Amino acid sequence: MTRDNKIYVRYGNDGKAGAIELLRAGGVEREVKAGMSVALKPNLVVAKPSSSGATTSSLVLSGVIEFFKECGVTDITVMEGSWVGDSTKRAWKICGYDEIAKRYGVKLLDLKDDATTKTVVEGFTFDLCNAPKRADYLVNMPVLKGHCQTVMTCALKNLKGCLSDSSKRLFHTSGLHRPIALLNMALKPHLILADALRGDLSFEEGGNPVEMNRLILGRDPVMLDSYGTSLMGLSPCEVEHLVLAEKLGVGSSKIEDGDIIAIGHDESLFKIGSLPREARRLSAYIDEKSACSACYASLIHALFRTDERNLSGLLGAGKIKIGQGWRGVTAEGLGVGDCASGCARVVPGCPPNALDISRELSHAARP
Ligand code: SF4
Repeated sequence: MTRDNKIYVRYGNDGKAGAIELLRAGGVEREVKAGMSVALKPNLVVAKPSSSGATTSSLVLSGVIEFFKECGVTDITVMEGSWVGDSTKRAWKICGYDEIAKRYGVKLLDLKDDATTKTVVEGFTFDLCNAPKRADYLVNMPVLKGHCQTVMTCALKNLKGCLSDSSKRLFHTSGLHRPIALLNMALKPHLILADALRGDLSFEEGGNPVEMNRLILGRDPVMLDSYGTSLMGLSPCEVEHLVLAEKLGVGSSKIEDGDIIAIGHDESLFKIGSLPREARRLSAYIDEKSACSACYASLIHALFRTDERNLSGLLGAGKIKIGQGWRGVTAEGLGVGDCASGCARVVPGCPPNALDISRELSHAARP
């Protein structure tokens, strides 16, 4: 079967319906059949609900399980090992996974209890859990979010939950980036469905969730993470483990015209009350009139990654305009999104990409 290397993006905040629609759009039913064992590897790094921006939404999980059941798959296991300082079993409960497992009759496997195999890749040795490797079909279900050490985390880094706790520690003392890239040579999920509904702006453990309102499906982790990186206002070359994974042949960061297939539109309007403190502070640079959440999130990510010393000069022509209320309005300064196309300078898109906004912000700030 030829590998589908497209990336499918489904806009909207309905995690369950969105996941089902996305899996159908990606033709996943052609890759599974009854009798197969399917493993779902979410991100439950800590025992915090997905509203914190840290963990994979239980609604997304429900949608994925319903989809595979529709395909006739009965052997479904959700597997994860939280980080060293937390308990996966506590996370099952707090994130609503216990209840989902009961409702759908699927198994939960705490990978901290799984047997491991000593795995050597390019001279680096670690203990990899057996269950994810054994599954006939492995689905990686990361959260697209910021990370204080690796800048961002999504598909590549999410596999760290498939290690023993001692290997998780070893990864940190070995600099994280190269071990993550090597891990992805040893364990290759068949599919990635990333939860980008409300990932954290800057921290793996949540606390600053920003509503991005989208789910992303792909099969190449390097390509998917490169795309996710751009949604956070970063260039893929700023994420070391991504660069190394590509060099090691895990995948390709090249995204060409037509590689991104968008489904639907984010119809929810942004609300200032939904912003965490840091993002609320950045909103002082924005003149918002009925912006969609996905659009506003792109601007927040871009502003967060811009040197604020550059912004004061840029704002000579007024705050950055964004939102449907700017449609048909002519204005000075910078507009973000197709709705603000009447501004003197515009970053187009509906929603616009955060990396394009970041580039415009640093370009505009240049003397
Ligand atoms: S450009 Fe306008 S319609 Fe499109 S996402 Fe932004 S605010 Fe919404």
